[in-house]
Amino acid sequence: MRRRFTNLRIPAGGSETRPATILAVDGRIQEITSPAAEPAEEDVESLDLGGRLVLPGAIDGHVHFDDPGFTHRETFETGSRAAAAGGVTCVVDMPCTSLPPVTSLHNLQAKLAVIEAKAHVDYMLWGGLSHNALASPEWRRDLAEIVAAGVAAIKVYMLSGMDSFRDLSRPQLRDAVEEVARHGVPVGVHAEDREMVRELTGRLRAEGRDEPADYAASRPAAAEIAAVETMREICRETGARVHIVHVASGGALDIVSAARDEGLPMSAETCPHFLQFTLSDFREQGALLKTAPVVKDPADRERLWKGLASGELLFVATDHAAGQWPEEKRTGSIWTDYGGVPGVELSLPYLLSEGVGRGRITLERLTEVTASEPARFFGLEHRKGRLAPGLDADLAVLEPDERWTVRAEGLHNLNRYTPLEGYELKGRICQTYVRAEPVYSRSSDGSERFGKPGFGGRIERESRTTS
Ligand SMILES: [Zn+2]
Repeated sequence: MRRRFTNLRIPAGGSETRPATILAVDGRIQEITSPAAEPAEEDVESLDLGGRLVLPGAIDGHVHFDDPGFTHRETFETGSRAAAAGGVTCVVDMPCTSLPPVTSLHNLQAKLAVIEAKAHVDYMLWGGLSHNALASPEWRRDLAEIVAAGVAAIKVYMLSGMDSFRDLSRPQLRDAVEEVARHGVPVGVHAEDREMVRELTGRLRAEGRDEPADYAASRPAAAEIAAVETMREICRETGARVHIVHVASGGALDIVSAARDEGLPMSAETCPHFLQFTLSDFREQGALLKTAPVVKDPADRERLWKGLASGELLFVATDHAAGQWPEEKRTGSIWTDYGGVPGVELSLPYLLSEGVGRGRITLERLTEVTASEPARFFGLEHRKGRLAPGLDADLAVLEPDERWTVRAEGLHNLNRYTPLEGYELKGRICQTYVRAEPVYSRSSDGSERFGKPGFGGRIERESRTTS
């Protein structure tokens, strides 16, 4: 199958673009040429993209698609459909929010059996280590087996709210991280200090306080900073490749940066909600914007944007996690309302609009933090992450100047709500291709088409060492 994408523009360094033609053969990019060099060929299907901007399909390294086990929140079909509509061509799904959790080969296979017929886009799976998993005398063997089976990385929690995937104590964490390091894959850490948060939570709830600001006060920046400091120590002790997921505070990023200056193999990601919102938004929006960690102050937000531009933050992931709407977000108490926001569909247009559009990052940097850096991190760069010959023809096609207003009812995941409701963004996804096949398209009259669920395929981690 030969398909030529014509009349399009691609990034050309900085925030420049240039006209190009992309030839895909059997789903992979064969060559990228300038339009003048286009040879006339007969056995090629030609697709005119109308002068639009083409970016490498985004890789969302942190999604919770909840399948199987919590499918009242999300399913792999609905989550990956939203990904397709958001220009995301590969997702990396977390091990903790499905049942059974991905902590053994048996559980990994059980999950694959359920989701493989559902995926609209390609996917990788995180494996995990939990308190529950470490209770088994076979946990080291289980870990070795899921790594051998190609999980993308291993997730651990320093503070978890899930009974089926409990957090690790400091000694357990050290053991777990050391063991993961022996396999040469990264460990992704939810970093909030358990003792500090539990103590604050207990005190605030005992006082009967129940406002968003109280929940925020139970998970202060100090809790994240203390946890990242602990991980720096463990990184020093073990040499493990440590990645801090969803960094919210400038202080936590400072520690990761200092660790890197020290030569330690540490990195971090942040999420669109931490780049956009602060505590005053949380006070206003309440549970709609409830996440862990919690959004922080304007100074933190500016520090994160700066770190995204400078390379101190490795990439952006969404931590897409949708609670049942409205039931789980309107329980009557901020303490019991579900924590998590859907994000997979809006991340790429958000970063184009508020990052590139406002001059905070270049277009080139956008493609790094949404595609090439996560591809490298997850051992996926042999397949994805760049527009380059030999790689999958995964394309996000955007109308870069279209202004549109975000509406939850227009999203495509299962439970539709968003803290970005009513925000105007500049730049909109109009088509998404995975391996040169259309998985999403929106025509000028607004009608939308999706590819078939099950087209998306699983990808195993290739390399066992990461920089
Ligand atoms: Zn998460």
